[in-house]
Amino acid sequence: MAKIKTYEVGYCTHPGCMALKGASWRVCQFPARAWLIEANQKRWLLDTGYASHFHEQTQQGILQLYPKVTPVFFQNHQALVHQLATEGIRPNDLSGIIISHFHGDHIAGLKDFPLLDLICAEQGWLATKNLRGFSALRKAFVPGLMPVDTEARLSFIERFKASQLPTELSMFEVGYILPHSNDEVILIPLPGHAAGHIGVAVLTEAGWQILASDAAWSPTNYIELRGPSILAYSIMDDRKAYFATLKKLQQAHLQGLNISLCHEGDLL
Ligand SMILES: [Zn+2]
Repeated sequence: MAKIKTYEVGYCTHPGCMALKGASWRVCQFPARAWLIEANQKRWLLDTGYASHFHEQTQQGILQLYPKVTPVFFQNHQALVHQLATEGIRPNDLSGIIISHFHGDHIAGLKDFPLLDLICAEQGWLATKNLRGFSALRKAFVPGLMPVDTEARLSFIERFKASQLPTELSMFEVGYILPHSNDEVILIPLPGHAAGHIGVAVLTEAGWQILASDAAWSPTNYIELRGPSILAYSIMDDRKAYFATLKKLQQAHLQGLNISLCHEGDLL
């Protein structure tokens, strides 16, 4: 059975009501999580959280606004590559990095893991790769965070074998089996938040668990089908798809599936 380990890799702060409509203006911490997935004696990462590259790449031009809008709290020893090293896991021990979407807080550490396969939705990469300047800022994309050899390392989930989803996951309708994962890791489109946004279903001893990344920012988003602040829609890719995804997560929640989000924090 597959295993999941969760890492917190820095955090940013926002008023709570940005992430959840109707929540208070209290400034809350939103951790940036990354996950280590082990299946079939192989290991993959899902996202990277923050890294020192984020500060370096947001020093100049219009992208300086990014950490001003979402103040980032990160110290170098928290970098995912360092947290893994303290556990004896080196980048070469990994089989690839799954990228849920291309917002800066999910890709900031990619350059710390050279040579690894980068796994994402083709739709997400095509919609993002050419964004620069204000267009990039609007989509929270920092082009300088992508390794120079990205194109040669990409694998697109749409080219993987489609999964006949197990009954427990049927609400998600579509999924792709992560190669060499013994069918225990399924990549699932969870569109809306960002172009080509994906999550991961992992078959653990406790059953299927859903790593939903930024498909919601708080469990209340999907439990009550309550979206974020109207201001947050400015970075959202597709509002209608976002709510359709929330509905699927709500069904998964009602069926007792365990759902983990990247940023759920101290928001009440
Ligand atoms: Zn995001």
